[in-house]
Amino acid sequence: MSREDYEVVIGLEVHAELSTKTKIFCSCPTAFGAAPNTHTCPICMAMPGTLPKLNEKVVEYAVRAGLATNCEISRNSKNDRKNYYYPDLPKSYQISQFDKPLCEHGYVEIDTPNGKKKIRLLRIHIEEDAGKLNHDDFGGGSLVDLNRAGVPLIEMVSEPDLRSAEEVEAYMRKLKSILEYIEVSDCKMQEGSLRADVNVSVHKPGEPFGTRTEMKNMNSFRSIIRGIEYETQRQIEVLENGGKVEQETLRWDDVSGKTFSMRDKEDAQDYRYFPEPDLVAIRLSEEYIENIKNNLPELPESRKQKYLSVYGLSEKDSRMLTSSKYLSNMFEEAEKICKNGKAVANWLLSDVSRILNENEME
Ligand code: ADP
Ligand code: ZN
Ligand code: MG
Repeated sequence: MSREDYEVVIGLEVHAELSTKTKIFCSCPTAFGAAPNTHTCPICMAMPGTLPKLNEKVVEYAVRAGLATNCEISRNSKNDRKNYYYPDLPKSYQISQFDKPLCEHGYVEIDTPNGKKKIRLLRIHIEEDAGKLNHDDFGGGSLVDLNRAGVPLIEMVSEPDLRSAEEVEAYMRKLKSILEYIEVSDCKMQEGSLRADVNVSVHKPGEPFGTRTEMKNMNSFRSIIRGIEYETQRQIEVLENGGKVEQETLRWDDVSGKTFSMRDKEDAQDYRYFPEPDLVAIRLSEEYIENIKNNLPELPESRKQKYLSVYGLSEKDSRMLTSSKYLSNMFEEAEKICKNGKAVANWLLSDVSRILNENEME
């Protein structure tokens, strides 16, 4: 038996920070990089007696994301409390969505060596981010920064439709470009604006799916790919040695290139979800949804078709240019001036890309 006898199955829970000006339940700014605890107020610091108020823009952005990924938009939705204790979560619960997410049953298409493939989305829901713990090297403890507490997120949960690290990368890049095009998230992975929980299992084709493990909070393509390779190999070895893969939550460590157990099934978390009593239900009219649909910006796939037919570019060049909205905009502006799509594409994808790569810039 070898690696070739196994198939890897992957499902992603992708979190994207929404680029609204203010937080989801208060009017503190969401901007990244401010001095600790300066973007806070009694609401996002969870002072007793304060009440949340839902930011309408968050709903609009999430609906936009749902429409751009072919989801059904729920006319009736609500918020729920997910209860757990952690020092970066001052309320001891996160306001999220449980059984009535805003968007359900969507899909995105990725390009694979064997053609197009649909990756199904189970759901997209809205929720608030937690704060951040900063390790204090002088005092030896941790300091809590609540600037990020209450920053709006969407969580996009895929079905276990991905079969390789390459497909996962293509899927993440597709989601990233869609979210950038519709201007709901800046998707800066290095700032944590886009991160993924990566669920991995292995099985022999024809047999039921294996037990999955979940790597939490992966925020670079490189670590996601390395993590999947490592976890696939590890699980195969466990099975080949007659063992059983345990369902557990793992932490990927970039330095050692290994995964470490954070918690196992024994303490599988019970979040005691219940409806958030301090917020009203979310009811969306047909008109509201139609209006967002009609104002959706052009998506990467439709731009790509245009590049193929109008500018006569190759499949690969069209895909590379449209993978980033900024690059694609630049292409279109430059083409207007010099009226030679192929030359502009060559210039952007060779000289310009090389300089960007060398300087590790986007
Ligand atoms: P949890 O809250 O326990 O993480 P969710 O239902 O939110 O559960 O997410 C489950 C994720 O795991 C989904 O992205 C799904 O596609 C993925 N998944 C489910 N079963 C498997 C499996 N056997 N192998 C790999 N991924 C899986
Ligand atoms: Zn606040
Ligand atoms: Mg999960």
